Amino acid sequence: MSSGATGDSVAAAAGPTWIDIDLAAIRANVHRLREVAGQAELMAVVKADGYGHGLIPVSRAARQAGAGWLGVALLAEARQLRAAGDQGPVLAWLFAPGEDFATAIAERIDLGVGAAWMLREIADAARRLGRTARVHLKVDTGLGRNGVSIAEWPAMLEAATVEVDRGAIEIVGMWSHFAYADSPTHPTVAAQLSRFNDACAAAEAVGIRPQLRHLANSAATFALPDARFDLVRPGISVYGISPGPEVGNAADLGLRPAMTLSTRVAVAKRVPAGSGVSYGHEYVTERETTLALLPLGYAEGIHRRASGRGPVLLAGRRRPVAGRICMDQFVVDVGDDQCAAGDIAVLFGPGNHGEPTVDDWADACDTIPYEVVTSVGPRIRRQYSGEG
Ligand SMILES: *Cc1c(COP(=O)(O)O)cnc(C)c1O
Repeated sequence: MSSGATGDSVAAAAGPTWIDIDLAAIRANVHRLREVAGQAELMAVVKADGYGHGLIPVSRAARQAGAGWLGVALLAEARQLRAAGDQGPVLAWLFAPGEDFATAIAERIDLGVGAAWMLREIADAARRLGRTARVHLKVDTGLGRNGVSIAEWPAMLEAATVEVDRGAIEIVGMWSHFAYADSPTHPTVAAQLSRFNDACAAAEAVGIRPQLRHLANSAATFALPDARFDLVRPGISVYGISPGPEVGNAADLGLRPAMTLSTRVAVAKRVPAGSGVSYGHEYVTERETTLALLPLGYAEGIHRRASGRGPVLLAGRRRPVAGRICMDQFVVDVGDDQCAAGDIAVLFGPGNHGEPTVDDWADACDTIPYEVVTSVGPRIRRQYSGEG
């Protein structure tokens, strides 16, 4: 897999900052998730450019490891998979009116139906094309996002049955999504599970028996056996990252983080005590020391929020960002330790060589690991290892 296939620009290929993606870790995580899923099939969720890891290389690794399904949010993402030669089952689920459903149907992309207008537009596109669209009816069991409300579910079932009889659609799946799966004992979890079972029973009562009922994201795949149904839809855990502390850390869950973010020191220099560092001088040196300038910043997805806090492994130790993170750069104070231009600094990785982890950066940014990995910007070059 060349990095060009992931959309990296020529300029980025020459840049001083890179991420290593360990495809062997992706495969190991998919194997682990299949083991946890038991009888249920596995859909690896690869939206948002494979959570920042690269849509096509990650999808290939997931397929190699036995992911029967791939899941994406946007039609454009599903079509990228087809353009790269993936012919397997793919589900896309987030649309606005006027999307090119005809092409999606022609390319055998399964479509999530979360509103009445989606059913209408998809069925119309299928009729024009003379094909049958493969759909998964989505019920909103309590997340309050996409999906048909419980009140409108009977009408959706009726409308869908009409389109099945006309040959416009085939109902492949029935599905929903949790609000609190990362808090498995939260009362909404049981409530959503029971509403989902009711919605499936209501469908069955009118003769709709889809091959796949699915509800579980990563957290539910691990923590809620009753939510696994016929297929599970893990995303973050495919990349070796825990869906949340209440579910367990990556090692406890048997997951291997796949992404390592590294850069090279641009400038290292001795400065006297009392030197202000970066915009606003929020950091001032207490004694004579060595400052190392790292050539990445918030344009690379290193949140400015982590100013003064984000941890970096440099010159043998973990050290926080000194002062503000700028658009293209930030500074680390390495004290009297040896450090020179060209030295490698690691922002995050699996954590087994003293480097911080994605979770550490999420804490430093007051966010979740999902946002850290999907923030990795286009100026960062990607390198892949562990190809199957
Ligand atoms: C993103 C997403 C997932 C995957 O969630 P993780 O928490 O990353 O496992 C599953 N289902 C839907 C509908 C999603 O949007």
